[in-house]
Amino acid sequence: MIMVEDAQRIILDAVKPTETVQVDLLQAVGRVVAEDLTSDVDIAPFDNTAMDGFACRSSDVAASSPETPVSLRIVSHIGAGSTYGKTLLPGESVRIMTGAPIPAGADCVEKIENVTFTGEGEVGDEVLLAHPLSMGENVRKAGEEVRRGGLVINAGETLTPAGVGILASAGHSMVPTYRRPRVGIIATGSELVEVTEMPGPGKIRNSNSYTLASYVIAAGCEPVVYPIAPDDQDGIEGALGHAIGECDFVLSSGGASGGDYDYITQAAATLGTVHFKYVNMRPGKSQTFAVIDDVPYVGLAGNPAAAAIGFEILVRRALLKMQGHTQLAHPMQSALLEKAVVKHDGRRNYMRGHIKRNEAGQLVAAPASKQSSALLGSLHHGNCLIVIPEGDVTYPAGTPIMCLRIDIPEGTVL
Ligand code: AMP
Ligand code: MG
Repeated sequence: MIMVEDAQRIILDAVKPTETVQVDLLQAVGRVVAEDLTSDVDIAPFDNTAMDGFACRSSDVAASSPETPVSLRIVSHIGAGSTYGKTLLPGESVRIMTGAPIPAGADCVEKIENVTFTGEGEVGDEVLLAHPLSMGENVRKAGEEVRRGGLVINAGETLTPAGVGILASAGHSMVPTYRRPRVGIIATGSELVEVTEMPGPGKIRNSNSYTLASYVIAAGCEPVVYPIAPDDQDGIEGALGHAIGECDFVLSSGGASGGDYDYITQAAATLGTVHFKYVNMRPGKSQTFAVIDDVPYVGLAGNPAAAAIGFEILVRRALLKMQGHTQLAHPMQSALLEKAVVKHDGRRNYMRGHIKRNEAGQLVAAPASKQSSALLGSLHHGNCLIVIPEGDVTYPAGTPIMCLRIDIPEGTVL
């Protein structure tokens, strides 16, 4: 039986990032960019107005005031996408809309709300400016975000929606990222039937394949769900070997403990090298890790909550590493236990729970009333795993306790 941290490290050490692939810009959000990316243009490409208004020379309006407004002749009216082909001369102004280029000669823009004009304020009319403007006022400078050739996204960064927009401005319709790992999922157990079946005597529906496939998708990977494998060593070996040949990582559920019909560890040992078979945690003590033909394989526990928590604690971080992520740990948060916890086992307990704020503004962690490793409801409704350390523990209500925020992205600073 090994410590959770050792199990995590052994699995992490066994995986490496997948090869890089080019994906459509719209497929890249949330993925890690594999190379430094630069811009082929200045962003913004030219000086442009931040406001609808009138472009002018700041020297022309330096002496203006509400009592003595300066009158300028309107020589053009341009919107975004148009340009004023000439140089603005003293005494002239261009009526200009947000995003349009600042005419040569002009160095500032007065907002349309702040001016009055003759006629409709069109070409040939006069505009009256009643306030001095500083050079650059309401002007967005060329290259404010980045200069042509400059770095816009660094290798290793996770692409946000804003980052996708930057890459669009910078001319990248394709993005180099890491191929989504294919993760094989095999549910084992002679009691299992398909979701579409009504379970007969002694049978239950296979839920783990669905839970695990969903966790795999949530971790950015592609699930490959294999048929249910009955408890039979040859069958399990065949299914496992087949999945290993097709996938970058393989998961199974069930058959991992020492029961009479538990063949997972034997099958893994026949096909490859078993690194551990017990982890000092609850739920999920029986978890096998093996490497078979260079492919990592985790045999998760069969009980649905144990399989799910085993995935969260041991597997998810490895799948993130395979996609180039470097933030692999969900944030930990301290909270006060809402009710007493007493336990007498040597294992690290991950209790399903819910953190919320009490009326005094303190963070309080409420352990779910049902902690059976067969039940998923407490995981679905919870937002954290309350970490109860190894050994005998007697914690009265109000004890500060560390909680793993499985609902919050890895690397978030709380
Ligand atoms: P095992 O680890 O094979 O001893 O299974 C432990 C418990 O988990 C048993 O009650 C199984 O029926 C249940 N179980 C195993 N696999 C699944 C599955 N794919 N879906 C739902 N429950 C399962
Ligand atoms: Mg079983």
